[in-house]
Amino acid sequence: RPAWRVDLSDFPPVAGEGVVFSPTEDQLRRLQEVSTILEEAPAEVILRWAIDTFFPKLTMATAFGPEGCVILSILARLEPRVHVFNLDTGYQFKETLELRDRIAEKYGIEVEFARPELSVEEYERQNGGPVYKTNPDRCCYERKVLVLKRKVVGYRAWISGIRRDQSPHRANAPIVGWDKKFGLVKINPLARWTKNDVWKRILAEEIPYNPLHDQGYPSIGCWPCTRPVLFGEDERAGRWSGTGKTECGLHLADDQPPPPPPTTYGN
Ligand code: SF4
Repeated sequence: RPAWRVDLSDFPPVAGEGVVFSPTEDQLRRLQEVSTILEEAPAEVILRWAIDTFFPKLTMATAFGPEGCVILSILARLEPRVHVFNLDTGYQFKETLELRDRIAEKYGIEVEFARPELSVEEYERQNGGPVYKTNPDRCCYERKVLVLKRKVVGYRAWISGIRRDQSPHRANAPIVGWDKKFGLVKINPLARWTKNDVWKRILAEEIPYNPLHDQGYPSIGCWPCTRPVLFGEDERAGRWSGTGKTECGLHLADDQPPPPPPTTYGN
């Protein structure tokens, strides 16, 4: 049966910060059914289904990576009122912040900046210096994960731009699945796309993208934790380089162990 016929009306919105709903076996089975039906579908169809099923309780988090920009270009055609936010840690590159304005100008989508309670100055003052140097897991947790937990309150589903071939952690990402950590449905419309598919679309449609990609940065996060990659290196090799850390904690799979306990990486 078509994805539109699978009833997901009993998936509630996130009730409060850190309040995580536990779906029943039957609910999980229905999500899996939808995911299987949509496995081969184009991103436009997946997003159309997501909008029809969850809007206006549908949100999206973007770091303005190439995948996010492609999704925004599709949302602009399908439903530009979908709520979209960026986790503005206070450590983003200026090129990333400017991309928000270029997207707004081209597509009329105003991405909201979601910020931690403490400014960078205050956060560093209270911690005796930059936490990204001494404990990046904690820094990501406090400046990204906690902010996301707060932002998804009231929403039933979120859209992300992750691709299966980005890293082993993401290899099993379903098209539609249950996000155990944040307690809502997660939709990955580009899960099956390759990096090539993304860039072909960006170039064909002149979708705005981060100019740092042309300067050797295939994956862009916060400036203290991102370096350009060398020829032949993995596309995420420039993220938290030399620390052993590979993910900020937003997209860890359910079967993935939680991040290692806080470690001091030295200055
Ligand atoms: Fe902090 Fe670096 Fe994580 Fe950004 S990527 S939140 S600076 S540890």
